Amino acid sequence: MNIPTFPFIPGRIARLPELAYNLWWSWQPDAIALFQAIDADLWTEVTHNPVRLLRTVAPERLAAVAQDEVYLARYDQVLADFDTYLQSGNTWFAQTHPRDAETGASSPVVYFSAEFGLHEALPIYSGGLGILAGDHCKAASDLGLPLAGVGLLYPQGYFKQHITPDGVQEAHFETLNPDELPMVPARGPDGRPIVIVVELPGRHVYVKVWHIQVGRVPLYLMDTNVDANDPRDREISARLYGGDQEMRIAQEIILGIGGVRAVRALGLQPSAWHLNEGHAGFLGLERIRTLVQEQGLTFAEAREVVAANTVFTTHTPVAAGNDEFPLWLIDKYFSHYWGSLGLSREEFIDLARHSRPWGPMFSMTMLAMRLASQYNAVSQLHGRVSRQMWHFLWPEVPVDEVPITSITNGVHTCTWLAPELARIYTQYLGPDWEARLDDPATWNGIDHIPDEVLWDVRRALKRKLVDFVRERLRAAWMHGELAPEQAIAEGALLDPEALTIGFARRFATYKRATLLFRDVARLQHLLNRPGRPVQIIFAGKAHPADEPGKAFIRNVYRAAREAGFAGRIVFLENYDIVVARHLVQGVDVWLNTPRRPLEASGTSGQKAALNGVPNLSILDGWWREAYDGQNGWAIGDEAEWADREAQDAADAESLYTILENEVIPLYYARDAAGLPRAWLRKVRQAIRTVAPVFSTHRMVKEYTQRLYIPAATRGQKLAAANGTLKR
Ligand SMILES: *Cc1c(COP(=O)(O)O)cnc(C)c1O
Repeated sequence: MNIPTFPFIPGRIARLPELAYNLWWSWQPDAIALFQAIDADLWTEVTHNPVRLLRTVAPERLAAVAQDEVYLARYDQVLADFDTYLQSGNTWFAQTHPRDAETGASSPVVYFSAEFGLHEALPIYSGGLGILAGDHCKAASDLGLPLAGVGLLYPQGYFKQHITPDGVQEAHFETLNPDELPMVPARGPDGRPIVIVVELPGRHVYVKVWHIQVGRVPLYLMDTNVDANDPRDREISARLYGGDQEMRIAQEIILGIGGVRAVRALGLQPSAWHLNEGHAGFLGLERIRTLVQEQGLTFAEAREVVAANTVFTTHTPVAAGNDEFPLWLIDKYFSHYWGSLGLSREEFIDLARHSRPWGPMFSMTMLAMRLASQYNAVSQLHGRVSRQMWHFLWPEVPVDEVPITSITNGVHTCTWLAPELARIYTQYLGPDWEARLDDPATWNGIDHIPDEVLWDVRRALKRKLVDFVRERLRAAWMHGELAPEQAIAEGALLDPEALTIGFARRFATYKRATLLFRDVARLQHLLNRPGRPVQIIFAGKAHPADEPGKAFIRNVYRAAREAGFAGRIVFLENYDIVVARHLVQGVDVWLNTPRRPLEASGTSGQKAALNGVPNLSILDGWWREAYDGQNGWAIGDEAEWADREAQDAADAESLYTILENEVIPLYYARDAAGLPRAWLRKVRQAIRTVAPVFSTHRMVKEYTQRLYIPAATRGQKLAAANGTLKR
């Protein structure tokens, strides 16, 4: 990576830019502290982006820290850790797959995703799918798995959410300046910056490629904001999930077809290709086209070779999450293309034809399934649902034998764990606990943490959350972005000692954010009992086109303004990684109320649990596998109701009853020392049972052993066989 020069950085701390340009720092509290110590206010102002910090900080500040012995000692330690991390040849992958490790760097798994959620400084994600992709890359880096990410850079990112005093969601976009992001132009083997070309109807679109380094893992992001493109094409990659269907198909052509060309231009020889959701589905077509045109294979032969080492992960049973395009768009964008695959129009469309009540559609999920050979869902229950949902693609086998397996999602522990708790884990689980974090035995040490220590850190984290909320309100008030009546709705009256429940996620209606409000009087009573106050913090964006989702936000926001709720219902604007981090670390209980079985996995509750925040959730997605009767609470049972209204009523009743009879009494039961002993047992059990299993370390190991290695092996065999065949 060619890192730009920063003229004012003193020689003694000359490696700060190197650190800034590797997102390794983003999950290392000591490295973060190194940047923060340069100028704490500026660090907040630049949204924790070290490149912007180094570009804008006063040279005197840099000169000052370069003279500060304490700072320099920390600097030396962080850089020593950084070097150790990058140079260690003794990773999990090197130990378990020594032969693959040797050839790994030149033949990585390439991981395609429409979004990557790595850090707040790179706002190119919308939610769970992107965060999962970011955590996947970080874990691959930790484990030494050779992997390269491929995606799109969205210079205007995903929208920032502002709520009007009436609770109406407004969407704002800010333009990112590539020079201020921790990325550089990607270069090919000849050292020249890469620009690739993709054909769209009647024109060529030029795409440049950026390189972001995530520990050992490179991430390549494509960007159509290139001078040579006409203005509308420069906008193709501008916004994540921003435009209409035509914009969307153009984005997916850049991602899939452009992505394959970028991989080639980078000189990579992937061992396996992983599609994180169907958005990149066109990549299989482009790989087939290359084999047909350059190696003379037939479509059928080429498809077999391509499918052999392609892995596809489906992420949702909800229709809106499964992209599909009307056939007129396919005609418009692919009529120049199917001939080069050796296919007629009908054959091409039949690859992904989905008969819908409103007519035939071209389904990206079906395309991905047809051009892959390994498929997985993201939790056990989601596996079952997906096998039913896609059974029609494998009509010859019984539903249980539909070849869609499941690998349950996890989270990147060090990204989501509060530094305050990380220090305690180091003390009680052993200094090398991070290297053993997916081994359940590592977590037995949780029992050695004294109750007082655990309780103190939990209280401190809640206070930190309340301070964070108040500081945001103060800043918004100062900048004239807050009407006085919004202050209470957005948390001015939060009580750092009250039992605090967090609910933060996308406001899609199946997530039922308003379930708690079915009986307003009962809720008000429950929140306001003397001596046992309860407060609930909501956060989340609705997709700008999702009117019912936006109505849910309006309803919650208006409730938060009502005097009857006494400031104990709060809605935080602009749910993003920063807000998520504070919430999952700072609340006492994590609430989730999806309509079963629509939550494929969910991961925010995993982040909460590893911070000692028990879940109170429907038995859906990951929680159905994690709940053991002791580590949190289950709302409802395993039943799925045909009548939605009846299901909502039953689940709401269960939720109120658990809150009234279990959660609130347990939290407020204190002994003579003022400690909630039984509560802390739940906290420990949540950490112990969730942290090792629902981590991306466990998850990426499973992907490697169950999908990547078999795919790579099969891919090699088939490529070899075809090579022989043709010669
Ligand atoms: C973790 C996370 C998500 C995904 O969590 P869910 O449980 O699937 O809602 C979404 N958005 C942000 C900002 C997150 O950090």
